[in-house]
Amino acid sequence: MTPLIHLYLLASGSKGNAAVVEGPEGSVLVDCGISRKELRRRAGLVDCDLGRVRAILVTHEHSDHVGGLPVICKHFDGPVYATAGTASCTRLAPFDVTTVRHGCTLSLAGMRIQAFPLSHDVADPMAFRFEVPGDDGPRDAVGWATDTGVLTDEARRALRGCRTLGIETNHDPDMLAHGPYPYYLKARVGGSHGHLSNVQAAEALPDLVTSRTETVVGMHVSEKNNRPELAIRTLSEALEAMGRTPRVRVASQTQPLVIW
Ligand SMILES: [Zn+2]
Ligand SMILES: [Zn+2]
Repeated sequence: MTPLIHLYLLASGSKGNAAVVEGPEGSVLVDCGISRKELRRRAGLVDCDLGRVRAILVTHEHSDHVGGLPVICKHFDGPVYATAGTASCTRLAPFDVTTVRHGCTLSLAGMRIQAFPLSHDVADPMAFRFEVPGDDGPRDAVGWATDTGVLTDEARRALRGCRTLGIETNHDPDMLAHGPYPYYLKARVGGSHGHLSNVQAAEALPDLVTSRTETVVGMHVSEKNNRPELAIRTLSEALEAMGRTPRVRVASQTQPLVIW
């Protein structure tokens, strides 16, 4: 594939998420759980032009994904897309949100964007695959899924064969089990409507990674129940066992990560 879609992971984790996907004719902002000021600061650090943002996509209503959106939406003229369940949350309800359903395809910024469902403890979560279509298959494809306790079959199909694949590596199962969280929170995080562990992400890779996959990014890494090097090691070992050699990166809570 040709690198036509660039991914700016400006923040990833339970303290705030924000990503800009830049296509051939502009870009889209996916979630914003950090302030507008911090979004602009981080975008500036990596030369990500927020003036090119044509639309905002929202995955779900947890504050680490929508916390910054009320202020951002006030200053943004373009469309905001979310499922009806997500659009009805307190922070988005005052705004004119275009509702989308799973399986629908949006055409924005020169990209074909497919929405697919996740499994998380909110009204109606979704994630996206971004593609630049070509005559005989996609010219480029980027996709990721975070905030999901399991990967649905639709998610596995949608994420298969992306050049850049982001997958949630929220926790190390042992660190979660022996970590500081109270029992109910451990059950929530590790449950089928919580977050994917390093091990679950690694187990999904055979369904997702193909010869087209150049980069695998571990995302939404917990600061209490995981370490970036553990996520990298677990993903790398799984890829090695498959005989695949994409590079493995980890998105950060504090530093932007750019994938070209
Ligand atoms: Zn989250
Ligand atoms: Zn969430």
